[in-house]
Amino acid sequence: MQLNVLILPGDGIGAEVTREAVKVLQQVAIKFHHQLSLTEGLLGGVAIHKTGTPLPQETIDLALQADATLMGAVGLPEFDQAPPEKRPEKGLLGIRKVLGVYANLRPVRSYKALLDSSPLKNHLVDGTDMIIVRELTGGIYYGTPRGIHQDGNETRAINTMTYSSSEIARVSRMAFHLARNRRKKVTSVDKSNVLENSQLWRKVVVEIAAEFPDVALDHILVDNCAMQLILNPRRFDILLTENMFGDILSDEGAVLAGSIGMLPSASIGDRKPSGAWVGLYEPVHGSAPDIAGQNKANPFGAIGSVAAMLEYSFGLNEEAAAVNAAVESVLNSGQVTADLNGTATTSEVGEACRTSLRLVQ
Ligand code: NAD
Repeated sequence: MQLNVLILPGDGIGAEVTREAVKVLQQVAIKFHHQLSLTEGLLGGVAIHKTGTPLPQETIDLALQADATLMGAVGLPEFDQAPPEKRPEKGLLGIRKVLGVYANLRPVRSYKALLDSSPLKNHLVDGTDMIIVRELTGGIYYGTPRGIHQDGNETRAINTMTYSSSEIARVSRMAFHLARNRRKKVTSVDKSNVLENSQLWRKVVVEIAAEFPDVALDHILVDNCAMQLILNPRRFDILLTENMFGDILSDEGAVLAGSIGMLPSASIGDRKPSGAWVGLYEPVHGSAPDIAGQNKANPFGAIGSVAAMLEYSFGLNEEAAAVNAAVESVLNSGQVTADLNGTATTSEVGEACRTSLRLVQ
């Protein structure tokens, strides 16, 4: 298969972990006989330094041409006081918009070797394996009217939570498709006892569920969901939710895995004519200025993002499983970075993954 992938290393440890993830992708291409075409672009602080803008037009063009994009992380402390348009993070929001990715997928799973790194008791977290599917382009983060206004002596702030049925339907359909390849269960999160928005959400999710009679659907209120993620995370397979609820719940899910450095993510849009899903793949973590340049960042989130890319954008399930198996085997060997109480460097962990991948049958 021909795989055309754009690499956006970004800032800080983004570049360090992406380097290892790319080498893993190259190893996959060799092992499974795929043609890999890689291009590299600028995004974030590094792009501001070289071009004056966090998302140069050249990067936009490259992203639109590629089948999939692998990103590191953006953010440099020197831009912390810069105006919004000149901040590295603006590039991240921009590239998501350009690609039209409307569903954010965060796989959350526990690894035997990391059970002690989780804040939960081992018996609660062991066996956790879910994907949080978060709607990414609608809801209260984008709705209008919004702003802060003076109202006589009072200052008033307003944000608007708004969804259309088609926005809910497309992300729901993606969740049900994903469930079909897993344990066939979707749990939809809302606040339908209070919000009209959630009442529409629930109605549309039920309508879409009728297209997938082989997938079970249940509903949970967001406050109860926050509690169940801690009490019984194993009960979830696909967790489907709107933008703001997903933002909060996915960070809660993140701690279950033990370290933020472990977590991959995928942001997916519509299918291309080639059949590939448009996808932007990145570890969940940021550029970690506190450890940047020290070769001690955990690269598993970035490497897991390669697995997600192979599965979601290219439908290469066997290749994705091989990458995940390599990650698990390195974790079991104890060759891990400092965030997991190990002594290995970023590059040593990457090399161990590639060696393991070569050995996986
Ligand atoms: P962060 O995720 O960069 O770091 C939080 C903490 O986790 C730090 O102590 C860091 O050392 C540690 N950490 C993160 N990733 C790690 C890894 N792979 N291995 C080991 N330890 C790791 O979040 P932050 O400090 O809040 O933000 C730093 C910068 O990153 C900011 O500029 C922020 O805007 C940006 N950011 C970018 C993204 C993104 O590009 N998607 C996401 C979050 C934050």
